[in-house]
Parts: sequence; C-alpha cells; structure tokens
Amino acid sequence: MLPVCRVLAYARGMRLLGVLGGMSWTSTAEYYRLLNRGVAQRLGGLHSARLLLHSVDFGPVADMQHDGDWDGTAKVLVEAAQGLEAAGAEGLLVATNTMHKVADELTGATGIPLLHIADATARRVLADGRRTVGLLATAFTMEQDFYTGRLRELGLEVLVPEEDERADVHRIIYDELVLDVVRDESRERYREVMAGLADRGAEGIILGCTEIGLLVGEQDSPVPLYDTTTIHAEEAVDWMLG
Ligand code: GLU
Repeated sequence: MLPVCRVLAYARGMRLLGVLGGMSWTSTAEYYRLLNRGVAQRLGGLHSARLLLHSVDFGPVADMQHDGDWDGTAKVLVEAAQGLEAAGAEGLLVATNTMHKVADELTGATGIPLLHIADATARRVLADGRRTVGLLATAFTMEQDFYTGRLRELGLEVLVPEEDERADVHRIIYDELVLDVVRDESRERYREVMAGLADRGAEGIILGCTEIGLLVGEQDSPVPLYDTTTIHAEEAVDWMLG
C-alpha cells in the first residue's frame, strides 16, 4: 500500500479517544492496559489503542474536592478536555467516577461526546437482569446525587453502605489505593461492607471508584461485582472501533 493510503486507512480504522486521567494514576494505568488489551483482542496482531492522555496532578484536585470547590475542579478538567479536543480527540473518557460530578461542564465546554461511566455501568447491570445494587465509592459519589441519581434515573435501585462503613471505604481509597497501597486488612473491611450490602438485598455491587478493583475481586463478594473501570474501558473500546 502507498504510504498515503496507509495513513488514511489508519485514521479511518479507529476513533481517537481523549482520556482525562491521573485521578488517580493507579487506576489510569489500569485503564491504559485495558484499553490497549481490548483493542489488541478485537483487531489482533500488533494493534493498540489510539489515545491521547492528559494526566492531571491529583493533589490539588483532591484538595479542591475535599474543600467542596467543585468549580475549581471543573476549571482544571475543562481546560484539559479542551486541550484534548484541540489535539484531535474525537471522544472523551473521564477515568474516575467522582469527577463525573462535572460531566455537564465538560460536555458544555467541548464539542465531543463524553462516554459516561455511570451510563455504561447501569446498562451492564440491567442487561444482566439485575435492578438492586450496592455502591462502593468515594463519599462524594455515594452521598451526592450526581451519580446515584443518574443510576436511579436509568432504572436501578441503589443501596449505599452505613455511615461508618462509608467513612472507611472513602478513607481506604484516599489514604491507600490512590497511593498504590493495597492492604489485607482493608480488603477484609471491604468484604464486610459488601456482605452487609448483599444482606440488605443487593443483587450486585458496583465498584464505583476506579481504584477499588485493585483491592477486591469476585472472590471477595457474595454477589457479582460491576467494576466500573473494566466496564468503562470495554465500552470505550467498542466506541473506538464502532
Ligand atoms: N478514582 C476514584 C473514582 O473513581 C476516586 C478519585 C477521584 O476522586 O477522582 O471516583
């Protein structure tokens, strides 16, 4: 094939995905692996994902989250998303559940589609014929409406852990998992919390924070898990190749 034809075939074959990552880098690394593995499995050979990644400095973003300065976080992410769009990204993946808090600001400020993590997850749960799910996530995601409200609008019944459990789930994310620290005692605590959700009627549990899959897996839960990182990455591969 002539070089110019090759370039055209290259650009036509796969959409270019812009990833907003670094929230945290431990889960962004997992996304990177899953996106590339997914494309390689679908296309074979030496194929890999066409990606642009803007990986933010999570320290200031996490400070703003805990101060309730969501406008500040939106500003950081909007600027990064616009940069990805200007660089040629055709769609946007925000590699964190919590920062979907500013999803509307991101779609309003760019002209490219945002692949929403909660929509992808709800579709998967409903396709499995389940409706009532437990949610493990940051306190922001478990306690505010931007995420649970969206899941409920899509038809799910959402159970969140008790207050002391939510505090532990949140602490383990921010003090350990985003720092690449994985402890057995934290896994044990998550197991207890998941058992409690199943006792209360959860038919499945959404791992609604992109780092939780680093700590627990199916073997730790009495009911099936919906790992948002995996589901989101799989949907993104479908979108890139669609
Ligand atoms: N990655 C996490 C999530 O999926 C938490 C870190 C963050 O606040 O972005 O919510």
